[in-house]
Amino acid sequence: SLSGKTAIITGSNSGIGLGVARELAKAGADVVLNSFTDRDEDHALAAEIAKETGTNARYIKADMSKGDECRALIEKAGACDILVNNAGIQHVSPIEQFPVDKWDAIIAINMSSAFHTTAAALPLMREAGWGRVVNIASAHGLTASPFKTAYVAAKHGVVGMTKSVALETAQEPITCNAICPGYVLTPLVEAQIPDTMKEYNMSREDVVKNILLERQPSKEFATVEQLGGTTIFLCTDAAAQITGTTISVDGGWTAL
Ligand code: NAD
Repeated sequence: SLSGKTAIITGSNSGIGLGVARELAKAGADVVLNSFTDRDEDHALAAEIAKETGTNARYIKADMSKGDECRALIEKAGACDILVNNAGIQHVSPIEQFPVDKWDAIIAINMSSAFHTTAAALPLMREAGWGRVVNIASAHGLTASPFKTAYVAAKHGVVGMTKSVALETAQEPITCNAICPGYVLTPLVEAQIPDTMKEYNMSREDVVKNILLERQPSKEFATVEQLGGTTIFLCTDAAAQITGTTISVDGGWTAL
């Protein structure tokens, strides 16, 4: 059980982050949810998880595009045994038209935020004598697709950072790994469907099967519960010597 551990999950009022937070809370961890908004429904998500699991669940607002807010998130939480760097956005465009502000935002949110949160969290993990850093990278941290330069660059960067942090903590009871999901049906992916339907003049079903899941040999989406389960595995004693590596949850994508 993860009882007594505090888990901070960045970008967790939706999608994979929320799913991972739910699974960690079910496993007994106190969870800190996060996004850049501060709405009643954000706090209600934490209250609902606390009620369902009997753990302490909080929501802390912090914008992961800003380094100081990333660090403040960890400080405000006060403890961080498990850090799940999950916040992320996507933008799809040929490189010549790729908006510079989108490039900057993707590099900041998808990659640099993990630099800041990890730097702030490691001292707390050392003090506690145990820690797990789990970076939600992507199959796009290991392979590429056209029109996703910023996302692919940021996710490869996260995989590289994962290795460096693992080496810096190698002789301590702290591990740092990246989980590389293939396609998971979350709002981030849902948002790509209408444009792709237009681009290829295809129905929703054809886009899902022939475009989105084209490279996912299982022809099934991975689920947020499976990503939560993989995160929990990385927190077990069985995974204590797993560090500086990637675990693909991609239905065979990277085997192709
Ligand atoms: P999502 O859009 O459902 O969730 C993204 C989360 O990040 C949301 O909670 C959002 O509020 C948060 N966020 C965005 N900008 C933020 C900011 N500036 N500060 C704080 N939080 C911010 O998307 P998702 O699919 O759940 O994606 C989560 C992570 O998983 C991302 O890093 C994404 O790249 C990665 N991923 C997703 C898939 C997939 O198929 N869905 C595949 C591989 C990797």
